[in-house]
Amino acid sequence: MRRKLAAGNWKMNGLSAQIEVLNDLINRHPAPTVDLLICPPATLVGAAATATAGTPLMIGGQDCHTATSGAHTGDISAEMLGDSGAGAVILGHSERREDHGEEDALVAAKTTTVQAAGLIAVVCIGETLAQREGGETLNVIKAQLAGSIPADAAADTLVVAYEPVWAIGTGKIPTLAEIAEVHDFIRAELTARFGADFADKIRLLYGGSVKPTNAEEIFAVSNVDGALVGGASLKAEDFSGIITALEAS
Ligand code: PEP
Repeated sequence: MRRKLAAGNWKMNGLSAQIEVLNDLINRHPAPTVDLLICPPATLVGAAATATAGTPLMIGGQDCHTATSGAHTGDISAEMLGDSGAGAVILGHSERREDHGEEDALVAAKTTTVQAAGLIAVVCIGETLAQREGGETLNVIKAQLAGSIPADAAADTLVVAYEPVWAIGTGKIPTLAEIAEVHDFIRAELTARFGADFADKIRLLYGGSVKPTNAEEIFAVSNVDGALVGGASLKAEDFSGIITALEAS
C-alpha cells in the first residue's frame, strides 16, 4: 500500500512570519494518517525544519543543483538542503522548466543527485494547454517521464507529480476522467520501464489548482496518491482541508 502524500509548494512566497503556518498545521494535524510535506523558499528551509523537528511534517526544497558543491553562484545543492533539515526536493516544476529553461535531462541529473543525498525527489511533469488541445498530452507525458527519471532511479525516494501547466494557479482543472487517464498512463509507463514492484511503490500526485473544495473528488480518482499544492498550501486552513480530504480518501 502506498502511503498518501499531501505536498505544498510555497514557491517564492513567505517571509519568516510564514513559519507560523507550519505550527498551525501541526496543531491541526498532530497525528496525520498521510505523509505531509511543505517546500518553502530556500531562505526558510532551515527555520521551517527547526520549527517542525520531531513532528510528522517534512520540509523540502523547490530545486537544487546537480553538483554537491562548487563554483555555482546562487545555487544550492541537495546535500545543503538535507543539511538544513530538508527531506525532499521538488524537481522539474513547470516554472523551472519555463523560467530557467530546464529540460528533461537536467531534471534526471538532479533526480540522481537528490536521491544520492538521501532525499526524496518529487519529479514534476505536465503538458501545456497547446499540447493538450493538440492531442499531445500522453506523448508529452511519455517523453517527460522517460527523460526526467534516470534509469537507475530508486523507487523508495521517488514521487511523480502530474501538473498540467494550464491548471497551475488558474483555478482550472482537467476533468476527473482526464486526470485518471494520465495517472493510469504514468503507472503503466513506469511498470513497462521499471517493472511492477518498482511502479507500485511510486506515489503519483496530481497538482494544479487543488483546493479544499475540489480535493475530495480528485482524491477519488484512480492512481491519485495525493497532491502537490501551490496557492492553497500558503494558508493552514486551506491546506488542512486538503489533508483532511486525503485522509478520508
Ligand atoms: C504548483 O505550482 O505546483 C501548483 C500546483 O500550484 P497551484 O496549486 O497554485 O495551482
